[in-house]
Amino acid sequence: MLDKPLLIDGTWRAPSGTRAGDVRNPATGQTIARLPLCERADLDDALAAAAKGFQTWRKMTALERAKIMHRAAALLRERADTIAHHMVREQGKPLAEARGEANAAPEHVEWHAEEGRRTYGRVIPSRIPGARQMVIREPVGPVAAFSPWNFPVNQLVRKISAALAAGCSIIAKPPEETPSACIELARTFQDAGVPDGVINIVFGIPAEVSEYLIASPIIRKVSFTGSVPVGKHLGALAAAGVKRATMELGGHAPFIVAQDADIEAAVRLGVMLKYRNAGQICASPTRFYIEEPVYDAFRMAFVAAAKTLKIGDGLDAGTQMGPLANPRRLDAMDGFVEDALATGAHLDCGGRRVGNAGFFFEPTVLSNVPENARIMNDEPFGPIAALAKVTSIDEAIARSNRLEFGLAAFAFTRSLATANRFSDELHAGMVSINHFGIAAAETPFGGIKESGYGSEGGAESLDAFMTVKLISHIGA
Ligand code: NAD
Repeated sequence: MLDKPLLIDGTWRAPSGTRAGDVRNPATGQTIARLPLCERADLDDALAAAAKGFQTWRKMTALERAKIMHRAAALLRERADTIAHHMVREQGKPLAEARGEANAAPEHVEWHAEEGRRTYGRVIPSRIPGARQMVIREPVGPVAAFSPWNFPVNQLVRKISAALAAGCSIIAKPPEETPSACIELARTFQDAGVPDGVINIVFGIPAEVSEYLIASPIIRKVSFTGSVPVGKHLGALAAAGVKRATMELGGHAPFIVAQDADIEAAVRLGVMLKYRNAGQICASPTRFYIEEPVYDAFRMAFVAAAKTLKIGDGLDAGTQMGPLANPRRLDAMDGFVEDALATGAHLDCGGRRVGNAGFFFEPTVLSNVPENARIMNDEPFGPIAALAKVTSIDEAIARSNRLEFGLAAFAFTRSLATANRFSDELHAGMVSINHFGIAAAETPFGGIKESGYGSEGGAESLDAFMTVKLISHIGA
């Protein structure tokens, strides 16, 4: 299946060179496939195809585009189980989580399809008698999109859906670590009737591909999801060509528990969110700021729940947490734990790799973690919760806002006044109070500060893929 991984101008083909990379199953550490990687000549072909595809797609009506997208959504539903299995084998998440992700994908396609029919302009009353002043929105042009391995389908489907709904063509570089689900996703759009050249898929050496595509005058918009350092680099490349960019970067979400909170609910959700996808989520909670009177109760219940999680191959029945994506993440987890213990934190559970095969790391809880520990400052992107006691809501908010990250924030309280303070004062692109309320197709997903700019999802989603044109017209 991976011998022809490039989709260029409607044809699946092998790259023109001989370079290739390993695709590994993180549950075993074994190489399960070789992925051929593209050369510059392939990128030139993809650019030419995207330029042509853009001309075809932009001229179709929004209704025609929406019909094709709805067909793609229906096909995605039929293929969700196959796609989910690909994700488990290459990324490691439990099958139930992979199914959830695959089944949510058509919702993003459908929502964007309909939103594409509502890209309204407006009429501005003119200063000149008889003149008409209209503002219309147009697709920005061919898009270069780079999506990561933690949600192989979700991250890619958002970018493709938004581009297509706006009338743009796209060259997407999905993650080389998890190609199969991404290929299946692109195939559904193709089978649904998306014209040749509108969606192009390339795999390659990430830095090489991004530098080449972003520098091309054909590309008018860049969309990236990944780490802050890479986002800063790609943002600078986009700025050099004065190109639009959406950056969905790292996070370091605070999780505040006020003394009047429903502790049981906070523990249940905290454990679920922290260890989902083995913590490899940009919106994953990391810093747990607990008010002193409930600190011990929260800590004991949280540790007890974390200890019960069943770790294993995502395809095994009952697995609640899979492996990390690669050995780099294991080394990173070891480093975070070692550093936290050196700064005086207490290890309540976990803290070690599991077994000799695969990239498993125990669900880990560190308590009484000081603010200078690295885990309180750098994104762990793994299954480590860092608990710290706070003496007031003021302190919890101040500590939450201390970092340059500003993606998600979670908080628990029964007080409306305290909830309002969280809403108003937390520096984050998404604040979720007493539940998990982010990441639906109809709500904007994105961060502030170094967590990025622009929104994926929500009515804001299409803004980043469209330009504004004023047309002022007076009768001859
Ligand atoms: P990484 O920064 O090397 O890579 C992250 C992603 O960016 C990968 O998909 C990679 O292929 C891509 N990438 C890297 N350099 C690139 C370049 N020059 N041009 C285009 N794409 C490029 O890190 P990693 O070890 O793969 O992942 C760990 C870190 O990545 C985490 O600490 C986390 O901060 C970040 N990450 C964030 C998200 C997210 O949802 N925001 C997702 C995955 C990874």
